[in-house]
Amino acid sequence: MAAPRTEGAEEMLSGSEPGAAPYGNFPNYSRFHPPEGRVRLLPPALLGRLFPAGPSPLLGLDVGCNSGELSVALYRHLLGLQENEASPDQPVVGKILNLLCCDIDAALIERAERCSPFPGSISYATLDVMDAGARELFLSAYLSRFSRSTFDIGFCMSVTMWIHLNHGDDGLVEFLTYLSSRCNYLLIEPQPWKCYRAAARRLRKLGRNDFDHFRSLAINGDMAERITQILTEDGAMELVCCFGSTSWDRSLLLFKSNRLTQKQL
Ligand code: SAH
Repeated sequence: MAAPRTEGAEEMLSGSEPGAAPYGNFPNYSRFHPPEGRVRLLPPALLGRLFPAGPSPLLGLDVGCNSGELSVALYRHLLGLQENEASPDQPVVGKILNLLCCDIDAALIERAERCSPFPGSISYATLDVMDAGARELFLSAYLSRFSRSTFDIGFCMSVTMWIHLNHGDDGLVEFLTYLSSRCNYLLIEPQPWKCYRAAARRLRKLGRNDFDHFRSLAINGDMAERITQILTEDGAMELVCCFGSTSWDRSLLLFKSNRLTQKQL
């Protein structure tokens, strides 16, 4: 008999915990969607492989970090640090990573900051990434501290559905286009379409009528495929690989900017 399938966080929360979280800003997200299930799909030495002679420090951007559990797990995993290792002094892959994590929810960011084991290397900020003015000001200022104009790697994990539901097709395309302009590599974990239905149903129950345009989203169906199309169709990025799917059917897609090929960074 097939093992019972683990549902995605959004689906589980829709049944048991209908808190008002219109942006996916659940206060205990990582309990339902544990970081380990996702980071273990990534090669531990990935940063060393992607940036054999890359810049130092490497700059990472985690969009929609919630309370930072996945950000910390990614940081550890990609640098090859053990679970209990509190100091990034001797990363196995010999890389230094500065990770900037942002979320729209100030309370989640406050918690992430309070609990961060790597305050020197991981910073957190409250930011609505769909506010073009605020985002440009903030991210440019961060990058310019390192005399850079792009992040080496961006993480967009379980965020695309919330952007899509809140900002429609145009918002999703604009968001992905912006990330592709600012990130040399981009790791995306798109939510599958079935999660949209559950989230829209839950939010409708909360009286959020603005989700009604869910029904008219023209970008729908196989979301991994659709997101790949958006990022690659104008030649901005190419799909490097798909790191398989978690037990609830989510793929981790790694894209590479074609600027890189041209500049050979
Ligand atoms: N990346 C984490 C959390 C995913 S939950 C993980 O995979 O474990 C989705 C997160 O995206 C929420 O914390 C939510 O607050 C954030 N989010 C949604 N819309 C956002 C926006 N416009 N700007 C910044 N963060 C946003």
